[in-house]
Amino acid sequence: MLSATNKKISSVLLVGGTHGNELTGIHLVKQSQKEMLGENYESFSLDYLIANESAIKANQRYIDVDLNRCFKLADLNDSTLTGKESKLAKSINQKFGPKGNSKTDFIIDLHTSTANMQTNIVITRTDLFHLQLASYLKQVLPDVTVTSEAELMEDHHFLESIAPNGVLIEIGPIPQGCIEYACYEKTQSATRACLDFIELFNIDSLPSFTDTLNTQSYYSKIHFPTDDNDDICASVHPSLIGKAYPKLNKGDPIFKRFDGADILYDGEPTILAFINEAAYYDKKIAMCLCNPINFSLISASKNK
Ligand SMILES: [Zn+2]
Repeated sequence: MLSATNKKISSVLLVGGTHGNELTGIHLVKQSQKEMLGENYESFSLDYLIANESAIKANQRYIDVDLNRCFKLADLNDSTLTGKESKLAKSINQKFGPKGNSKTDFIIDLHTSTANMQTNIVITRTDLFHLQLASYLKQVLPDVTVTSEAELMEDHHFLESIAPNGVLIEIGPIPQGCIEYACYEKTQSATRACLDFIELFNIDSLPSFTDTLNTQSYYSKIHFPTDDNDDICASVHPSLIGKAYPKLNKGDPIFKRFDGADILYDGEPTILAFINEAAYYDKKIAMCLCNPINFSLISASKNK
């Protein structure tokens, strides 16, 4: 177990614009602030953050480095890291953390994906509280997939890791730099469901849950094939484009080369996520691999 809360959640931070070209969360945070969304909840206060204003202005994911990889404790304490996002991470940590002794109890960080990730609930902690949160979101929202980091790092690099509790909500597919109401509405529903859960938790009124939470856990990535000049020389196979978490078996087509030839998958059976994600082209990543992992809420409750 990596984290646990038996304490009530008294302060929640809603974050958009951690990635500057994911507009849905930015507009949802602004609208939520206008509508004073926090007024609907009695047991906690709600604060708002538009995280990376410079990247938003530039309509880019980031300026120097990915802000959502800047929140490891070691990096926050490293005075030699002086890039735009490294400095920004330190100031966000000062204002809403600091990590390890945070004035914020829970962070919801809003993201989008260009891949068909449906409603992707990303958890980085597997204590009872977070397993119950993910189970609740599965109960009340359609097409939720819960994903977790393979190693569930002790000192995570996500912005939401500066608080002891949190979740990353990622809705897709939607192009970068675009707004679509359906995506906005899904993000809004997931955000409100998170806040509803926190309220129910605080007043000891959570519903009952089944014991098992099914999640997908990332374990690897597949890069695009490249030529001798290190240029990408194939696209993701058309049969995979737009698919949500498809299974891939040995021998299935995975890429189509620009000369028209299929490239077949030659690994163990797997599940694919982030297929053709635009944000990963800078690293020539074509897709991520995950496997189902089930968590037991009963076991987690014994670890409390
Ligand atoms: Zn993002």
